[in-house]
Amino acid sequence: MLNSGAGNGARRRAPSEGGFDGQSDNTFNDTFNGGPVRHGTMRENNLAVVLGEVVRHQPVTRARLADLTGLTKTTVSNLVAVLADGGLVQDGGLVREGERGRPGVAVSVNGDGVAGLGLEVNVDYLAACVLDLGRRVRHRHLIATDNRGRSPEKVIEALARLAGQAIGSAAEQGLTVAGAVVALPGVLDRRSGWLRTAPNLGWSEVPTRALLEAGLPALRLPPDQDNEANLGALGELWFGAGRELGDFVHVSGEVGIGAGIVVSGRVFRGAHGFAGELGHIVVEPGGPPCTCGGRGCLEQIAGQEAVLRAAGLTDARTPVPTTVAADPDGPMAALLESLRSGDDRAVAAVGRAGHALGSALSAAVNLLDPDSVVLGGIFSPLAPWARPAVQEALAAATAVTRGRTPSVVVSRLAGDAAVQGAAGLVIERVIADPARLWP
Ligand SMILES: [Zn+2]
Repeated sequence: MLNSGAGNGARRRAPSEGGFDGQSDNTFNDTFNGGPVRHGTMRENNLAVVLGEVVRHQPVTRARLADLTGLTKTTVSNLVAVLADGGLVQDGGLVREGERGRPGVAVSVNGDGVAGLGLEVNVDYLAACVLDLGRRVRHRHLIATDNRGRSPEKVIEALARLAGQAIGSAAEQGLTVAGAVVALPGVLDRRSGWLRTAPNLGWSEVPTRALLEAGLPALRLPPDQDNEANLGALGELWFGAGRELGDFVHVSGEVGIGAGIVVSGRVFRGAHGFAGELGHIVVEPGGPPCTCGGRGCLEQIAGQEAVLRAAGLTDARTPVPTTVAADPDGPMAALLESLRSGDDRAVAAVGRAGHALGSALSAAVNLLDPDSVVLGGIFSPLAPWARPAVQEALAAATAVTRGRTPSVVVSRLAGDAAVQGAAGLVIERVIADPARLWP
């Protein structure tokens, strides 16, 4: 079956094929690894072409797939059989296409076969998320833990345990995890696989890709990594508010603050992958010293700990998950409680953070001209108190020149955006090149 006529009538896969809901991030091909495109055989390309059309048009008959791909119906049937053997697609029910003709057997993505694992290392937590090929969350686990001052080896050891649990939970549900992508809160050199710096963790010049390859459970696809702000933007694009937005800037607010810039359905990473370091835009020249060596950076005014300190919540170093509402005892929950009761100091602290964020975003808006700004991470639950100040600062700096200010949207995923984006990227890669799953 594996070699049966599946290469007939082939066409090259266009670079944008294999995307999500017609929106392709295209990260597999050019921007993510920085490595060359894997040039598969014609049959491997055709497997990707057929799987991509199933994702876009499911439930869909083999006859329609033949129309969509330009392949013969026999070839499509052979390719579908290979994809079904690999747990990627399945038959189910009948579907009638058009007014006339008999209904055909429907091919759909198999939501109970292959899955993607997203992992996240952040300053004050570790997280894991398993998504199936239908993009449903099948497992999610977050551990509050202070990673500052811990060695990268120790943190990745803990991350590997979390990954093992996630893979076990997936297996219990009949899922096979194909690969993992790790979100890291730092500047990554995507070519060398080294983390250049993660100031809030106190890490610099760490060969993270090699550590992940050595430390994480072995899967069919090698582990990969990306900046958590970029993955947060992808998570938002695929699973959150970004689905309805055009070009947008997604703000990840945690202890550090980063931004992911989405242009035409793709994350803009810059020439070296270092774009989006919003947290180190200076908003108060000569202001408080920052972990980056500068002064008055946005992070020092609007980062989680800066806000907690300014609000008078002194146990600000207590580790707390960024999905703050989930931790009723954490200081962020205490902050929300103070805000709800109208505490002046808390309201002023969050207002100041919102204003600083709006100022920093004004620079991004004037440079990049996005349709929208998405407030993620801690700024999602804080939005009722922070958003007016963000909008005011944005309007002051951009309304005259642009005639309008970009809309300020609140993330639905909050702190989950990056880990979901990481898992989604694994799924995206499987769809873009399913033949990679087989030896
Ligand atoms: Zn800084």
